[in-house]
Amino acid sequence: MMRFHVLTLFPDMIEEGAHNSILARAMDKGLIGVEAVNIRDYTQNKHGRVDDYIYGGGAGLLMQAQPVYDAWEALSGKIREERGEDPGEKKPVRTVYLSPQGKVFSQEIAEELSREEDLILLCGHYEGIDERVLEEIVTDEISIGDYVLTGGELPALVLIDAVSRLVPGVLGNDVSAETDSFQDGLLEYPQYSRPEEWRGKKVPPILLSGDHAKVDAWRKEQSVLRTKERRPDLYEKYLISLEHPEEM
Ligand code: SAM
Repeated sequence: MMRFHVLTLFPDMIEEGAHNSILARAMDKGLIGVEAVNIRDYTQNKHGRVDDYIYGGGAGLLMQAQPVYDAWEALSGKIREERGEDPGEKKPVRTVYLSPQGKVFSQEIAEELSREEDLILLCGHYEGIDERVLEEIVTDEISIGDYVLTGGELPALVLIDAVSRLVPGVLGNDVSAETDSFQDGLLEYPQYSRPEEWRGKKVPPILLSGDHAKVDAWRKEQSVLRTKERRPDLYEKYLISLEHPEEM
């Protein structure tokens, strides 16, 4: 079982976002777990505040170190205890801070993360989080793209979704993850379902031929063409991988 533990100021966003469709089914089957921990529950401020003004000036508020650290410490202790490890041990549970300054998320990173048993996902809000606590607890910083969102909750859901569908059993049919775009460095070929003709457009006849070898060859060709046309950057990498398979 792969478990995602999300540290957030907006737990409802995570609960509502994750408890649908394929992810909800995977949770029911016990293949994944998604837990949202409210950082506000750990503030020592008597008014429940978790943010404050930024030293040096500038607009906006910053999430403070104390509630984030205390929430993380309690959560990591609980995870280690559940795993049967010593809760006081200092071995860190892998902790990902979702941030526009992180490494850009990719299928490759999703695959690597899907091998973990537990992942803590830290969501910032407002102007972000006090740097000192990030230095203390974060093992990976991941961005979902070069744009700025209001909070880390949507990026955390993106990561949970992409990683979960790689956990064995979640898709029901493991083949479908293998042929998806990016899985072999190429975009997926075009796909068609019934009827054979729709608004005058026919399904490519080869797909109705029943000749699996020819269908596979056609799909591969379409994948390569599509990647060349739509993502020349990926196509370049694909060509290099053909020349130097040992380096990939
Ligand atoms: N001041 C920060 C900066 O310029 O790097 C941006 C803070 S952003 C308004 C608030 C929070 O949203 C961040 O702490 C982060 O958790 C999340 N966030 C925003 N954009 C993101 C992105 N592209 N990928 C991942 N997380 C993002």
